[in-house]
Amino acid sequence: MADDFQVWVFGDHRNFFQDRLTLQVLAQARRLADKRKGLAVVVLLGHEVDDIAKEYIAHGAHRVLKINHPLLANYQVDLFTSTICDLIHEHGPDIFLLGGSDFGRELAPRMAKRLKVGLCADCIELELDSETGKLTASSPAFGGSVVARIAWSESRPWMATISPGIFNEQGHNESFRGEIVRVEKNIDEAQIRVRTVSSFREPKQVRPLEDANVVVAGGRGMKDVNGFHYVRELAMMLGGEVGATRPAVDEHWTSHDNLIGQTGKSIKPRLLITCGTSGAIQYTAGIKEAETIVAVNRDPHAFIFQIADLGVVADANSFLPALIAEIKRHQFQEITELYRAGRIQEEIGGDSTFGRRIKRLREDRKLTTGQLASQTGETPEFIDRVEKDTVTPPVSFLLQLAHAFDIDPSNFLSKQEKIEIGEKRHEGFFKRTQSYSYRTLTAGAADKHLRAFMVTIEPKKRHKIVEYKHPGEEFVYVMSGELEITLGSKAYHLKPGETIHFNSETKHRLRNLCEEKCELIVVLYTP
Ligand SMILES: Cc1cc2nc3c(=O)[nH]c(=O)nc-3n(C[C@H](O)[C@H](O)[C@H](O)COP(=O)(O)OP(=O)(O)OC[C@H]3O[C@@H](n4cnc5c(N)ncnc54)[C@H](O)[C@@H]3O)c2cc1C
Repeated sequence: MADDFQVWVFGDHRNFFQDRLTLQVLAQARRLADKRKGLAVVVLLGHEVDDIAKEYIAHGAHRVLKINHPLLANYQVDLFTSTICDLIHEHGPDIFLLGGSDFGRELAPRMAKRLKVGLCADCIELELDSETGKLTASSPAFGGSVVARIAWSESRPWMATISPGIFNEQGHNESFRGEIVRVEKNIDEAQIRVRTVSSFREPKQVRPLEDANVVVAGGRGMKDVNGFHYVRELAMMLGGEVGATRPAVDEHWTSHDNLIGQTGKSIKPRLLITCGTSGAIQYTAGIKEAETIVAVNRDPHAFIFQIADLGVVADANSFLPALIAEIKRHQFQEITELYRAGRIQEEIGGDSTFGRRIKRLREDRKLTTGQLASQTGETPEFIDRVEKDTVTPPVSFLLQLAHAFDIDPSNFLSKQEKIEIGEKRHEGFFKRTQSYSYRTLTAGAADKHLRAFMVTIEPKKRHKIVEYKHPGEEFVYVMSGELEITLGSKAYHLKPGETIHFNSETKHRLRNLCEEKCELIVVLYTP
């Protein structure tokens, strides 16, 4: 057991954010340790983490207990729990603090259970009681409506997690002195029950939330991750960014980078649409500078309505899909009209050209020209020319766009445009069927959206390779022979009884690989 009063901190160092959180926790550990003339100690598990250990010293750690092992390179909750608990048994610290990161929240209760000690989650205040000498804490309860005072019993360590952004970190100070103690431990691979196959960092937001002109924020009222998806979609439709309250972040519906409020970001958009948020003071602290606030809440008495410029009393999970559909309808109507105007007069000038509008819609959806090209079955160069208004695309491009933007085009196209698209479909169909011998299974359905054929491709020597793409879907069932079907750059081999179903906007070509006839049933859906 240690003679000194020791406050230990779990060194969560996976990425920058968690790194800062550990520094915030470390500042508290140092403050508490200094009160008892004790030690602030960071427990650092990892592989080749010397630089991080030095950073902890420069931020106030008296000591870093470092266990260096390749098996500790990735976080493994079982292994970390047992390794840290062993260290605690050996050294007997008085307090053990963890940042309330994803991993900290996973690790802390497991450790507390194993050590049979008390754990207080999401502390916003930590003190050593002047009379009893024990640790006391404040922690929000019942959705933040009350703050509970917590005191620990005798059994140590007194464990607590701390939410991100509650405390400040102690600045980096090269003159701080501390020791890095290398701890040798046998790491038992058998304890690793979950293997990390690969890991990657979530991409950072392109435009910081603080600088966004439009923010759509969601709270607990969005119900679940599917409900929160409407928030994301609306933000995308409006070319805005996604924001969230603490419960939405805690539920992992979105990342911590999107948290608004006292412990998150302060935003100043021209338009904020805030959905399923009650208007707690810790949240509204971050939206004071929003120019126009639209609030959607099903409770007419929700506090958020007191600060909103426009209030919508509605179930956000019904209101948002309806709003999104209406915006899509409006946007597509606009591009259809611009398309027609551009066809009548080549140059209509101003900001409102078909190409510029397409570019804006694409950028709002955060798509590259390459991505829009593959979604519409065109080349990136073609999209580039469309956006620069140097080419007038065929009317079928509108149809492809509608699919790419998930809009039902049928209400927007004129009779003439539908005829033009129909003619294109016939043309493509004619070109295609010239290369095969086929028998239609849906007689009289040439104009219909769904058609089925029995197709025969002669043995390979005599077969001419042709490549197609057309809006819609295609389903192929191989009855006999061996078929090679190439979708984009990937080839698939199908044997009798095997099937493939694909988006026919991907370039595709069929080839008979064997010396016998290849017989297929092909079902085409063209919108
Ligand atoms: C020290 C401290 C710091 C904090 N920092 C932050 C912070 O930075 N940011 C932050 O956001 N929070 C913070 N909090 C938490 C804060 O106190 C609130 O708990 C939180 O903001 C509430 O989030 P909410 O509005 O999403 O959830 P709730 O308060 O639960 O509100 C949900 C709302 O959704 C409505 N609703 C429910 N269903 C629907 C539906 N179907 N359609 C429409 N509306 C619906 C309800 O009427 C309700 O008004 C902090 C708390 C503490 C103690």
